[in-house]
Amino acid sequence: MKTSDNQYNDVIFPKGDLAPSEYFTGNAWVKMLVPNDQALNTAVGNVVFEAGARNNWHTHPGGQILIVTHGTGYYQEIGKPIQLLQVGDVVNIQPEIKHWHGASPESEFTHIAISTNTAKGIVDWLEPVTDEEYNSYQ
Ligand code: MN
Repeated sequence: MKTSDNQYNDVIFPKGDLAPSEYFTGNAWVKMLVPNDQALNTAVGNVVFEAGARNNWHTHPGGQILIVTHGTGYYQEIGKPIQLLQVGDVVNIQPEIKHWHGASPESEFTHIAISTNTAKGIVDWLEPVTDEEYNSYQ
């Protein structure tokens, strides 16, 4: 339920720990929901981004699925325009596709991140998303 312009009481999971600043621009918080499980070959985390925050460019050797639960965010694959993400959107990220995700400039943003085929590796971090790249949404 929306209680005011920028406050919501529909938060599902705890905010978790601050994400490492070497891989994020702005503040983000990660709460692991299912730590990497070797039998399931899967890990699940909840990620909260403050407005304007995003992760670096990166790839997932085993792929990743994002499920948007709160706010408005951005997703971009290399060579493609930024996609706007809203609650209920699901993003299927194939292995080794270079991409980034994060909040839009004016909205906090939360997604569940499911890392698949984790035995192949979970994430390989690359360079930060520049302000020029981040501000290229049309
Ligand atoms: Mn990703």
